[in-house]
Amino acid sequence: MEHTSDTVADGKLLHKTSYPQRAEKNTEITLSAIYKGIELFGKIDFYDPTQKVVHETKRSDKVEMAHEWQVKFYLWLLLLNRIDGATATLEYPLLRQTNHLILSQEDISRLEKVIKDITELKKLDQCPPVIHAKICKSCSYYELCYITEE
Ligand code: SF4
Repeated sequence: MEHTSDTVADGKLLHKTSYPQRAEKNTEITLSAIYKGIELFGKIDFYDPTQKVVHETKRSDKVEMAHEWQVKFYLWLLLLNRIDGATATLEYPLLRQTNHLILSQEDISRLEKVIKDITELKKLDQCPPVIHAKICKSCSYYELCYITEE
């Protein structure tokens, strides 16, 4: 759903305008991997292949766990593609804050569990009820998840 998301487009623009020199040398990469027969896919907008660093910029004025798991998923995808030792920087220009992230074995176990849970969800005949979480409002999948809601 990313191609239809204003939030995603805004994030890219924010990175380009906040870090113009860095944006030039970073590369957009699309990654896929098969984990236990499950196809995983991700698109990293700004990746520095020389330093093996994923750069993600957020307009938010609040650090969210979801932001961290987004980049940890990218790091896992890189690892599944035999790119070992990559790290991530999560940048919040409004907060003037940069968080550096690595992928731990514990993180990998959590991601594996999440993928397993999503696979189980996909087997259901009916969608589970909507969760009415605050983060849904800024999620690329909002229209899809809330299509039957008023
Ligand atoms: S909109 Fe859907 S996919 Fe996005 S956070 Fe909410 S429940 Fe999850």
